[in-house]
Amino acid sequence: MKIKKRARIYVIKLNKKIISLILIIILAIIIIAFFNGFNSTEIFKHSSGEKIIIDPGHGGIDGGTGDKGGLLEKDVNLDVALYLKEELMKDGFNVIMTREEDESLEDFSSINASRYRRDLNARKSIINKNKPKAFVSIHVNSSKKTTARGVQVYYYPGSNESQELARNICKSIDINVYEKFLKSGELKVKVLPEDYFILRETECTGVLVEIGFITNPEDNALLKNDKYKRKIAYSIKEGVKMWLE
Ligand SMILES: [Zn+2]
Repeated sequence: MKIKKRARIYVIKLNKKIISLILIIILAIIIIAFFNGFNSTEIFKHSSGEKIIIDPGHGGIDGGTGDKGGLLEKDVNLDVALYLKEELMKDGFNVIMTREEDESLEDFSSINASRYRRDLNARKSIINKNKPKAFVSIHVNSSKKTTARGVQVYYYPGSNESQELARNICKSIDINVYEKFLKSGELKVKVLPEDYFILRETECTGVLVEIGFITNPEDNALLKNDKYKRKIAYSIKEGVKMWLE
């Protein structure tokens, strides 16, 4: 009897060890599958060092549009651009900025043209020289009609890729900013074609995002709101990722 008991205990102990071992193996398989499958598509696929250029409009002597309270487009553009840089880098993108400070870029262009045109030409050169997967120019809108509001994403007419990128960014802002953040069922981003210099003269896919109207009271308040600016940046990143899929 004693021997049998001992034998039985031994068997139970062995089974427990085997069960533990099987559980550890299953757990290891789940962890490996998670990191290999999930992460490689979620992070590595998008990020894999894909180069994106962010172009915050205006800067320095060129404030862009503004309001009576002293809010200037150039500063809002840079805020959002820096948040977007942070977002993209977090996901492993290779980010290049046309400017990271409050400066205009005309001194980086040697063409014989107006200051405004030399500034744009410098931005074009940075984009064309670096050959990114895509670029995003960031601007703030204004209108004589104070009722005009909302984000507008511009693509180059005739470029399917530019239009696709614009559509994805639009979709992402509609969901992440208008629906989830502002809880508005009415506000919708507009996707529009426009023959802008920066879209026409660049050799890669790009869009120009007008992140709101400084002349509209609701949008104006949002352009001063850090949470809104961060949400816009996050949404542009998500749109770029959707476009890359
Ligand atoms: Zn502008």
